[in-house]
Order: sequence, then structure tokens, then C-alpha cells
Amino acid sequence: MSTATKTRAAKKGEPVEFTCARCEVTSRWTQGLGTATPPNWVKEKGLYYCLACRRERAMEQAVEKAGGERVSTADRAKLRSAAVVDFELARDPDRTEGEIAKAARASIGAVRKARRGRRPS
Ligand SMILES: [Zn+2]
Repeated sequence: MSTATKTRAAKKGEPVEFTCARCEVTSRWTQGLGTATPPNWVKEKGLYYCLACRRERAMEQAVEKAGGERVSTADRAKLRSAAVVDFELARDPDRTEGEIAKAARASIGAVRKARRGRRPS
């Protein structure tokens, strides 16, 4: 007779499947390899989010903060691109401006400007 538990607890070193709460993409990741979540994933309020959704949420939050529905389409686009640059800068500030620009799909000039803005004066 097996003593199977209701929730299959992963043994140490066994890959665990993570599901993004937003887009439902799954990622298998072995816990104990430095982080508790797959690389670039986060756990928030018990939910997991993949990198693409983290960017998307950063953009949505920026628009929301600026007034949500009241923000014009043009301003919305600006806010979203600035938010993703900020997000990428915060995520890994040690990358080059070129790498951050590529990750954020922004221009190097936009990254440089955002980085200047982040520096404590
Ligand atoms: Zn996702």
C-alpha cells in the first residue's frame, strides 16, 4: 500500500512545473538551483508570473498610475515603453545599455535617459 499524499510534493532536485498566473505558460524548474522560481519568474501573493507577463504588468501599472482610462493612446504608448525600460533596468542593471534596449525593445537613447533618471543625485 502506498502512502500517496494529495499534493505531489517534489523531492529535492526534482523539476517542478510552474504555471504563469497571467498567460498560463508553464516552465519546469528544479528548486534548489539558486532560486525558488524559474529564472526571471517572480512569485507575488502566491501567484507566479513569467518574464513576459512581468513586463506586461509593469506597463499596465504605469498606465494605471497615470490615470488608466483617461490616458490618451499616444501617452499610453510612451508610458508603456518607458515602463518596460525601467523594468529592465531594475531587473538587471549590470547589463549594457544595448542589451537592456534589446530586452525592452527600446532605443539605446531611451535606456540612457531612463538610467540617468534612476541614478541618485
Ligand atoms: Zn506569463
